[in-house]
Amino acid sequence: MFFDTDFEKHAQEIYDDPQWPTEPLFYANFTSKTDPKMAPEGMENGFFLVPLAPGLNDTEALRTSYFNKIITRFEHITQQSVKNNIIFNRSFCVNDFVSRYNSYKGNAYGMANTLLQTAFLRPNLKSKKVENLYFTGQLTVPGPGVPPALISGKLAAGLILNKNNN
Ligand SMILES: Cc1cc2nc3c(=O)[nH]c(=O)nc-3n(C[C@H](O)[C@H](O)[C@H](O)COP(=O)(O)OP(=O)(O)OC[C@H]3O[C@@H](n4cnc5c(N)ncnc54)[C@H](O)[C@@H]3O)c2cc1C
Repeated sequence: MFFDTDFEKHAQEIYDDPQWPTEPLFYANFTSKTDPKMAPEGMENGFFLVPLAPGLNDTEALRTSYFNKIITRFEHITQQSVKNNIIFNRSFCVNDFVSRYNSYKGNAYGMANTLLQTAFLRPNLKSKKVENLYFTGQLTVPGPGVPPALISGKLAAGLILNKNNN
């Protein structure tokens, strides 16, 4: 996690005054370090993420400029040359979340964790309209993230088992 710039400012540019962050915090994840299948032999897979407000204008030029911003900082902080060794580069941003997932304002994490969208106020695991239809995953209960999504599957399975046993 690269928290070498102002956290408060980036948070304001996500929540209070949505805009592309001036000096973004970001994280980098090298998935091939733990799963060799993530990259061809002798190579690495790097994943860089910049948290953004939903609904921002998304262009190729902006993506490129932000990638350049963070990779320059990454190289400086880690004292390594990375950019010149990239052989394949792909970005995924607001427009992709809209076109691929029809996600509201191109958000990546589903519904925001606001009070009125928390706990029992989130969409139910059991459909109110269709008999025997159950939902699971980050958009239902308990919420976003891999651990909650797994718990959601357990809860939905429990409801179904319970119903079938009665
Ligand atoms: C960039 C990013 C970083 C994240 N980092 C973290 C992290 O560090 N830690 C953490 O805990 N969580 C993280 N999350 C959140 C986490 O990934 C999600 O909360 C979790 O994966 C949700 O699981 P899910 O099973 O509900 O949905 P998903 O994992 O989104 O699975 C839904 C699946 O359904 C498929 N699908 C969609 N529509 C259809 C259709 N019509 N027919 C068939 N299949 C369909 C999709 O292709 C997808 O495979 C991150 C999310 C993003 C986007």
